[in-house]
Amino acid sequence: MNTNNKFSFLQSKKPIIISGPCSAESQDQLLSTAKKLKHLDVDVFRAGIWKPRTRPNGFEGFGITALEWLKNVKLETGFNVITEIANPYHLEKILEYEIDMVWIGARTTGSPFAVQEIADALKGIDIPVFVKNPLIPDLNLWIGAIERIYNSGANNVFAIHRGFYNNVSNEYRNLPEWNLPIELKKVFPMLTIICDPSHISGKKEYVEDISKEAMNFNFDGLMIETHHNPKIALTDQNQQMKPEELEILLENLKAEKIAI
Ligand code: PEP
Ligand code: MN
Repeated sequence: MNTNNKFSFLQSKKPIIISGPCSAESQDQLLSTAKKLKHLDVDVFRAGIWKPRTRPNGFEGFGITALEWLKNVKLETGFNVITEIANPYHLEKILEYEIDMVWIGARTTGSPFAVQEIADALKGIDIPVFVKNPLIPDLNLWIGAIERIYNSGANNVFAIHRGFYNNVSNEYRNLPEWNLPIELKKVFPMLTIICDPSHISGKKEYVEDISKEAMNFNFDGLMIETHHNPKIALTDQNQQMKPEELEILLENLKAEKIAI
C-alpha cells in the first residue's frame, strides 16, 4: 500500500467524507453544491457522469459534457473529484479530463468480466479506485472484484459499503447486512472501508442514523449524496441532502464524539 503521494490522506484521515450529487446535471448544479460543501469537512467531491439505470430510456447521465463540468469544479474549488466508471472507455475519458479518483458501481462489481476489463485497463495507472459492494450479498464477489483491482498493480484500493438488494422489507432501499463489510475487513485488515448511507437508506431522513451506526462499527468514512436543490434532482431525489443538512449531520457526529 502506497501512502507517499497526494492521496495519502485517504489512508490517514478519519472519517473521510465524500459528498456531492448522485448525478451531474449542470455546471451550475455542480458548482453551487461544491461551493457549499467546500466550507464543510468534505474531502472529495462526487458526481455521477454515466448513470447505470435499471431500464433504458431514462436519464443516463450527461457523459463527456459532464466530465468538463466536473473538471471545472476541481479547478474552481480545489476539490479532489470522483466519478463512477464501468469500462475501459470511461477510464480513458476520466484520465483525459484529470478526474482524480473513480468508483466501481454495485452493478459492475457483480460482473467479474467487467471488473477484469477495468483492471486490465488500470495497469500502470496510479489512481485511487473505490469498489462498491455488489447488489447481491455475496462476499466473495466483492472480495474478487477488490482482488482483481489489486492484481492490476493499483496502490490505492478502497471499498464502499452501499447495502444489498432488498426484497424483504420496506424500511431501507438496500439492506445493510453489516456482517459483510465486517467480514471484508477481516479478509483485508488494511483496507479502508467507507459507508454509503444514502444508497442504503434511500431516504435522507435515515442517513444520519446509518452514518452513526457505520461510525460505531469503525468504518473509515462516509459517502453521502448532496444536491443544492434535491427537489429537482434527476436521480435519487429522496436520498439526497442539502449541503446545509450535511453540515448538521457532521456536527451531530462530532457532538456525539462518534467522529473526530
Ligand atoms: C451512485 O453512487 O450514485 C450509484 C449509482 O451507486 P451504486 O452503484 O451503489 O448503486
Ligand atoms: Mn445515487
